[in-house]
Amino acid sequence: MNRTLKSTILILFVIIFLPTIIFSIYEIGSLRSNEKVIENIYNNQLDAILYSVNQYSEDVISSWANRLELILSSKKNNKTEALLDFIHTTSSVSKVMQFNSDNQIVLSVPPILSSSSFGKSMQALLIKNDSVLKNLNTYLQGGYRKLETFTLNDTTDQLVVFAFQQDNDFLYNAIVFNPVRFINEVLDPKIQEIAQNEFAISAFFEESDSIIYSSDKQFQMTEVSQKKRFWLMPHYSLGIELKNVTINDLVKSRSKKDLILIGIVDFGLILGLWLIFRNVKKHLELSQLKSDFVSNVSHEIRTPLALISMYIETLELGRIESKEKVKEYYTIIFQETQRLSGIVNKILNFSQIESGKKVYKFSSVNINDIVLDVVKTFNYNLEVQGFKYKTHCSAKLPEIQVDADAVTDVLINIIDNAMKYSMDEKYIEITTTFDKSWAYINISDKGIGISEKELKHIFDKFYRVTEKNLALKAKGSGLGLTIVKHIMDSHGGKIEVKSKKGEGTVFKLLFPIQ
Ligand code: ADP
Repeated sequence: MNRTLKSTILILFVIIFLPTIIFSIYEIGSLRSNEKVIENIYNNQLDAILYSVNQYSEDVISSWANRLELILSSKKNNKTEALLDFIHTTSSVSKVMQFNSDNQIVLSVPPILSSSSFGKSMQALLIKNDSVLKNLNTYLQGGYRKLETFTLNDTTDQLVVFAFQQDNDFLYNAIVFNPVRFINEVLDPKIQEIAQNEFAISAFFEESDSIIYSSDKQFQMTEVSQKKRFWLMPHYSLGIELKNVTINDLVKSRSKKDLILIGIVDFGLILGLWLIFRNVKKHLELSQLKSDFVSNVSHEIRTPLALISMYIETLELGRIESKEKVKEYYTIIFQETQRLSGIVNKILNFSQIESGKKVYKFSSVNINDIVLDVVKTFNYNLEVQGFKYKTHCSAKLPEIQVDADAVTDVLINIIDNAMKYSMDEKYIEITTTFDKSWAYINISDKGIGISEKELKHIFDKFYRVTEKNLALKAKGSGLGLTIVKHIMDSHGGKIEVKSKKGEGTVFKLLFPIQ
């Protein structure tokens, strides 16, 4: 491999391939920790939702306490009636009570007998939590009305107690409510509003882990992502789950997207790498072909020049007396100058084609005439080199629009090649035919042939077959067939090649009949 190509590969590897691979490995490696971060974010979001429901519950109960405070501190006498109205209009609330600092019931709506089982259990609860209740007074003195929550024995009744100051006396107000009804009736609209179609929110009775409320009756909640106890109903908890997809699914789908993205980026970079590599390789090959071309052409020019100067020197010395020999030397000089002008013409033709300055002059021509003319110019060489050749010209070939000089160049290039690349069997056959749409010129030889692999490239500029050095033994520039192809294209024609290694080659030229 060429040194420039090797260093290009090394540079591409170091500046593109290596960083891409390191980046990809790092990204894939950090996907796991990203998954954890994303999972935490989702969980925090769910946590915040549960927090807001809890906050709402506290706000509702706080508003009950406000109403109760208003009623109890009013100077009106019909407090019982107002309290009854409060109970009737407040869903889930069953009783309102007031007791003094000695834990004696001062007021109860509806009335409760201290001797009743509820009365007794209430009394026991208050005595047991005496210090907690005293703390409520301290909070109140500090300007903060704290709500304390207690659960009565059977957990179906929840007690919210807060301190209340009346004429320098500290009393305790208590609201008894049913937590299951509270969640199902009071919290339900708020939960529905939060849950919408995205989440399923359920409430659980912690002791038995049974569901006592669900925002979506249809959704079977098997496992919850987040669960939190109600602040004011500690025996109950609130659970939340994404409805249509689990957090795990969400995280996995994000990871999958990230992986696909990394894959696309890698693919794009590697594709770019490959394109750069291919381009550089192509340029290097072309520059190699160009440098081969320069050395080939110099060689092709130097040989006839050396022959011409050698024969002229010999003639100048005047030592050749035989007239035949002198004539032969002049013929060689003439042929070598012809060869030189042929090479120069080829290079000029090619440079005109490359710069887009080549102009064709079309006229009505019978291509048989061109074929016969070219064969005539080759006659001498063919015979000298021991070629057998045949020409079959179709008699009824119609005249077609071509640039006669350009078609002559085409034929010269192809016949010249047929001669150059024939070794043991020296045979060339030229045929002209036609059909409705095309006029054909076939030139076949029995030379060294071209392999299928090389056949694709023979029309490329500067291209010469290097396989086994067979073709290289013959001199050439790698421009002949490039010029031929350009001329055929400019005539709206086609060129087809059939060849078999060691057996020969057939070039088929197709000219459109307008
Ligand atoms: P060159 O100046 O090398 O002949 P061309 O463009 O005319 O350049 O041809 C390109 C290559 O195609 C040649 O180098 C040769 O290898 C191959 N080639 C062309 N014609 C023939 C043929 N008749 N038989 C075998 N090989 C051929």
